[in-house]
Amino acid sequence: MSTMRALQVPRAHASFELVERPIPEPGVGSVRIKVQACGICHSDMFVKEGLFPGIQFPRVPGHEVAGIIDAVGTGVAGWTTGQRVGVGWYGGHCGHCESCRSGDFVTCRSGQVPGITMDGGYADYMIAPAEALAAIPDELSAVEAGPLLCAGITTFNALRNSGARPGDLVAVLGVGGLGHLGVQFAAKMGFRTVAIARGRDKEPLARKLGATHYIDSQAQDPAAELTTLGGAAVVIATVTNGKAMGAVLGGLGINGKLVVLGAAMEPIEVPPLLLISGRRSIAGWPSGSSKDSQDTLAFSALTGVRSMNETFPLARGAEAYERMMSGKARFRVVLTTGQ
Ligand SMILES: [Zn+2]
Ligand SMILES: [Zn+2]
Repeated sequence: MSTMRALQVPRAHASFELVERPIPEPGVGSVRIKVQACGICHSDMFVKEGLFPGIQFPRVPGHEVAGIIDAVGTGVAGWTTGQRVGVGWYGGHCGHCESCRSGDFVTCRSGQVPGITMDGGYADYMIAPAEALAAIPDELSAVEAGPLLCAGITTFNALRNSGARPGDLVAVLGVGGLGHLGVQFAAKMGFRTVAIARGRDKEPLARKLGATHYIDSQAQDPAAELTTLGGAAVVIATVTNGKAMGAVLGGLGINGKLVVLGAAMEPIEVPPLLLISGRRSIAGWPSGSSKDSQDTLAFSALTGVRSMNETFPLARGAEAYERMMSGKARFRVVLTTGQ
């Protein structure tokens, strides 16, 4: 039996293990993907530290997967071997819960997540349900496609569903793994794009990525600055800091909306009167479906939006994960399998 390499987490809090496993066969409705690249997302920490409810070990993380369909299970329509595909956070839905019955597959009560409820892309091969696949356009390499399948779709889909219209003032809070993509998407969608980050270090990059305004949240009051600019129609919060989110609320214009993407643990402080007086709101946004992923990839190919990546070979995955966790990577870390 032929084998493959997989980088698994043997149990919660344990170090990664590079192991040889049999190459899996796709079951009914699934395909096998020959993995070429897999982004490392901060949410992979839920696997590493065993924080995801009900997670079972050993588990191979990875939900920013790009590769080639290598085998097709029975009952799969519309996908064939040799096609370039990606898989993100959405890994399939049950089809019978209330969300699924409403056609809202992303909020499925028993939704599958690659790398969490099933083995993901830190390996030479992975099995994915056909419904979770997104086609990768020719313009994007596997390394380019990987991070767009979580960091990319999350910002792209949040922005395009935010209600903001071309020409509106849209701010991106945080210029990191998600934020550097959010700034590009906002600019390419035709928004007056504001980048907000701590210090001035990231200003030249933010402007290069398409921001027309930059706010240093350490030296300036972001709410006051946004108000001076006319008030934001939308702020997408990519940071994981509840206080930083609270600090921009006063910069929302009438009907303005704070869209929360960063999984902060601490609460956001909200003055109720601020919401009432200008019909302002706070909402969250959870990535999207496989079609949303495909739209993200297509839009990126069309407009030149790209993630800035540091690549590591799969065998150095443990080191790559530490690099991501250090917060020093510029900006996404991607594993490559060399195939
Ligand atoms: Zn992710
Ligand atoms: Zn469901």
